[in-house]
Amino acid sequence: MNFENCLPWQKSALTEWQRHADRLGHAYLWVAAPDFGLKVIVQAWLEGFLCQSSMHRPCGVCASCHWLQADTHPDVFWLRPETNSRVIKIDSIRDLCNFSEKTSALGGYRFIIIEAAECLNAFAANALLKTLEEPGEKTVLILLTHQPAQLTATIRSRCQHWIIAPVGRKQGVDWLQQVTAVSLQQASRALALAHNSPLKAKAWLESGWLDVVERFWRHLTELMLKVIDPVSLAILYKEHCTTPVLAEHMLQWVEDLWHLGVLNEQALPGLLHHEELLAEYQRIIVAGLDLERLWRLWQRLLQTPLELAGNVQPLLWYENLFIDFSGVCVVRRMGSGSMVMGR
Ligand SMILES: [Zn+2]
Repeated sequence: MNFENCLPWQKSALTEWQRHADRLGHAYLWVAAPDFGLKVIVQAWLEGFLCQSSMHRPCGVCASCHWLQADTHPDVFWLRPETNSRVIKIDSIRDLCNFSEKTSALGGYRFIIIEAAECLNAFAANALLKTLEEPGEKTVLILLTHQPAQLTATIRSRCQHWIIAPVGRKQGVDWLQQVTAVSLQQASRALALAHNSPLKAKAWLESGWLDVVERFWRHLTELMLKVIDPVSLAILYKEHCTTPVLAEHMLQWVEDLWHLGVLNEQALPGLLHHEELLAEYQRIIVAGLDLERLWRLWQRLLQTPLELAGNVQPLLWYENLFIDFSGVCVVRRMGSGSMVMGR
């Protein structure tokens, strides 16, 4: 991986980091949105920083460049969560501590990278504290995460934080148009649906998933307006029933309806997941929302990932969920409040 191969937003972040890295501290916490590509950025930066040529960018032929590409650099310790459990356990931290106690093989800086640092379990996090405070001479720890709140306060407080801004909307749309040859409107819509993750939006555009989602939104409106019945809808989407993505879309839909139904419209900018669906939402609100049922539906949807991972029959489960959806739209209204749905 070198600078030229980085995606546009990764290049911007790498350039910013290179300014930070003039004087290296001993522990950093890098925070970015999921899919941003923190691994790519740290790998590209290490290749440039540790390259033994004097080209100020990775030469690709020196020993250091080769080692980094093969993941065998003697001065780099890269810690990843176990593939199946997604947990970083204390045994891995013991290996890390052993590494930090050695001296540099090449006489320069040494780096410890912890990928998905939110996966450190409590024992591992505790065992890491001493190394975080005193990692040894010219040894730098870089923790990567997209969920900083999952890390213990003791870990967070021992690191310098580098919070990377999300991908700019224009940058994301431009890139999507370049790599998928879709229209500006399609690119914008895909990016909005994919929560501003250009990589996810690209995958959705290429797989046709975006079309499925857009059709699903229309069907949800029809379901709530009782134009389509819950059982038919479940059959229509049965091949997608096992993916949690569909449930995530429903959750966003319900949260948007809640905010529109309960809060004053002036409070809306930035609160809706999908402002582009306002017309669909308005049709439902005009027909009349039962906010009490909507609230119960929201709570049920929060349980979806857990339920689907358990022993439920997905098609049947969706059928029941759609029955609840179809019951939300009635003329009756519950008294308004000022609650905001938060997760
Ligand atoms: Zn090199």
